[in-house]
Amino acid sequence: MRSQQSTKQFTRALVAGGSGFVGSHLCEALIDAGTAVVCVDNFETGREENVESCLGNALFELVEHDITSALPDVGPVDVVFHLASAASPVDYFRLPIETLHAGSIGTENLLNLASAHGARFVLASTSEVYGDPQVHPQVENYYGNVNPIGPRSVYDEAKRYAEALTSAYRRTYGVNTAIARIFNTYGPRMRSDDGRMIPTFIGQALAERPLTVTGSGTQTRSICYVSDTVAGLVALAASSHGGPVNLGNPIEATVEEWARRVAGVVGSSAGVNYVDATPDDPRRRCPDITRARVELGWQPVVEVDTGLKRTVEWFVDRASPAVTRQQH
Ligand code: NAD
Repeated sequence: MRSQQSTKQFTRALVAGGSGFVGSHLCEALIDAGTAVVCVDNFETGREENVESCLGNALFELVEHDITSALPDVGPVDVVFHLASAASPVDYFRLPIETLHAGSIGTENLLNLASAHGARFVLASTSEVYGDPQVHPQVENYYGNVNPIGPRSVYDEAKRYAEALTSAYRRTYGVNTAIARIFNTYGPRMRSDDGRMIPTFIGQALAERPLTVTGSGTQTRSICYVSDTVAGLVALAASSHGGPVNLGNPIEATVEEWARRVAGVVGSSAGVNYVDATPDDPRRRCPDITRARVELGWQPVVEVDTGLKRTVEWFVDRASPAVTRQQH
């Protein structure tokens, strides 16, 4: 059943945060579908080289700009994707105020732009809105368990505010909005120094160093390959659904199991090393994707070992030196 799905094609998209990890894959997917893309990014955590395959394409335009400042005139767009935010703990611990502003002021600027153009607006929210969840797997109608003043709150509460603002614009001004709650996504173009679980493990395994598992390692995570996450964002944009919709791969494993799986793909025998967990580290994380399956006809299709192999190959070809510990 695909009650909300449509075959809508977009003419011109604005992708805020388009030079980041997920955003760059989204820009490529949109261009492949014939949609022109204006990528707006301040390169705070993204890199121009992420969109090098798009540069020179007549359908692609790169605008260096901070979305917390008034947006320049980018011309007509019929869809706005808001991915512009630090996303890894290493980044948002380093950029706490910027992260709050990207979720608040930045979201408002992009909502106003979408409203002015009558464009569809898609917010890249996060499973972090569920905090350390007491409902498992996480369903969209669970309100979450978030510490509003801890170090992670700059990200979690910024996204929760962004969801509230997006919902208010939908109710108050009739803006055509949608909210995606993205769960841990991995793939090529992640930075090996951004502290997230998979690139950290891959960098350590390639260097034949022990993989750093935080806490007891029994906390769980699910991981979704980036092309699946991007397909979910595009399907949500093309639908009329307002969300929130979970986008993730409901294959759950402990952090220690993920470490051993990455070590197996790389062929490392260095083992694991236990380090302190970060504050408010969630104990369980796994999406219920029934809504995405029913309303969007979407589900992940890339097998974990296939996705890990592709990611490892990219790191072997391109990656910078490994970091020493993982944050989530
Ligand atoms: P990323 O850090 O690689 O990309 C974020 C991009 O936004 C970067 O290019 C950065 O330079 C840009 N940016 C940040 N602040 C900006 C600002 N004020 N103005 C303009 N550009 C700005 O992160 P990512 O992993 O690609 O995540 C993209 C989005 O998806 C984020 O909003 C994140 O919260 C969300 N998300 C990602 C994951 C994941 O596992 N990757 C999970 C949940 C949610």
